[in-house]
Amino acid sequence: MEDKKTEGQKLQERLSYNSINIWNKISGDERKKLDDFCNGYKLFLDRAKTEREYVAEARKEAEKYGFVSFDELVKKDEKLSPGTKVYKIIRNKAMILSVIGKRPIEEGVNIIGGHIDAPRIDLKQNPLYEDSEMGLMKTHYYGGIKKYQWVAIPLALHGVVIKADGTVVNICIGEDDNDPVFTISDLLPHLAKDQMDKKMSEGITGEGLNLLFGSEPYNDEKASNKVKLNILNILNQKYGIVEEDFYTAELEIVPAFKARDIGIDRSMIGAYGQDDRVCSYPAMKAIFELKDIERTAVCLLTDKEEIGSMGNTGAESRLFEDFLAALCAIGNDKYNDIVLRKCLNNSMMLSADVNPAFDPNYESVYDKRNASYFGKGIVIEKYTGARGKAGGSDANPEFIAKVRKIFNENSIAWHVAELGKVDQGGGGTIAQYIANLGAEVLDCGVSILSMHAPYEVTSKADVYTFYNGCKVFYEKMQ
Ligand code: MN
Ligand code: MN
Repeated sequence: MEDKKTEGQKLQERLSYNSINIWNKISGDERKKLDDFCNGYKLFLDRAKTEREYVAEARKEAEKYGFVSFDELVKKDEKLSPGTKVYKIIRNKAMILSVIGKRPIEEGVNIIGGHIDAPRIDLKQNPLYEDSEMGLMKTHYYGGIKKYQWVAIPLALHGVVIKADGTVVNICIGEDDNDPVFTISDLLPHLAKDQMDKKMSEGITGEGLNLLFGSEPYNDEKASNKVKLNILNILNQKYGIVEEDFYTAELEIVPAFKARDIGIDRSMIGAYGQDDRVCSYPAMKAIFELKDIERTAVCLLTDKEEIGSMGNTGAESRLFEDFLAALCAIGNDKYNDIVLRKCLNNSMMLSADVNPAFDPNYESVYDKRNASYFGKGIVIEKYTGARGKAGGSDANPEFIAKVRKIFNENSIAWHVAELGKVDQGGGGTIAQYIANLGAEVLDCGVSILSMHAPYEVTSKADVYTFYNGCKVFYEKMQ
């Protein structure tokens, strides 16, 4: 056929950047693979709503793929051979997976790191009380939530109670269809004049987020606080716990909804906790399936990102450095600190976290030209931070170019974005903590609507593309 393109059109094709919509490129077999992957993701979301559940589920899956406990291998001090798959669990709330490559460890590793905690509402240490013959639980929210989104919805209680003798009791109430659920009450509109006149940030207060837990009194005229007593009795019969056990518990309230398809075309996923499971799950699945790789691959799954990555399960701690040191040292009698330093400085990382998808309902807070969109694939963010990039991590363009090259060569769709308008707000990820150790780090991830809400939305095309991108990064990044 005769080429009817004008000079200008040809020039445009050669010089201008054209973004794509992945859906236009997916058909047949590929669509089936996409759906299968997303169905697995949805099931995982339902089973792993907290960091502890994530670690427990991930461990089960990892073992199916032949991963073994790194701590066990360290005890034997065996030299690891290419293809060995290991996992390390840090205090049941963070996890590192690794597949050993053929290249020497001091040449660096390829890391994809995300977080497995999510915004939620925690029970206070002394939670249970009775007021007006209702049993309630005091709470303290975790991470950046809009409090008004968490009232008048079904909630589930997850976590652990450590009894005086050290016994661990796992709690999960509200996920089985036969379970009861809980809720935080909201004010009826008829009496909400004063509330509705308040600023949104003040309409619901932190101290007002009290979980409705029961209302039936214990049947004994002489006992006091009978609703509370009845609740304690039920908990004691079911879990063998007493009130003081709450003081040594970690109990988290999360939405009781299940992950569902969104849209008449089923092109999206709605679920709680997709920040950052939508990145950490694909990164984990990608490392599960690796074989015959050049550089050692590491998947870093951290806790406490939503409150600043502090503590001994967060990315700001030395958990990653400690793991890498042990990886450099195992079966190597010539180990010294410089091996670890070389490894860190030669390492490359994708810091995998979500980016707010452009939302036509809230156009004014985005720079349309530097926003992420559903269906356009992996979001690359050169830098994070707020108001003048403060507190952010800023990737080196030499490194971004390497990522760009392998994504383009392997048909991985990607686009660039930052977190909203310059002076509107901002945020950060775990990138800076690993960059501080000397590695090259680039923020990238998946576009998300309603970030930090009880029900977050992602595009299936993006979830699947991110998974493919993770595989490419692990396999091809040199
Ligand atoms: Mn996140
Ligand atoms: Mn977040």
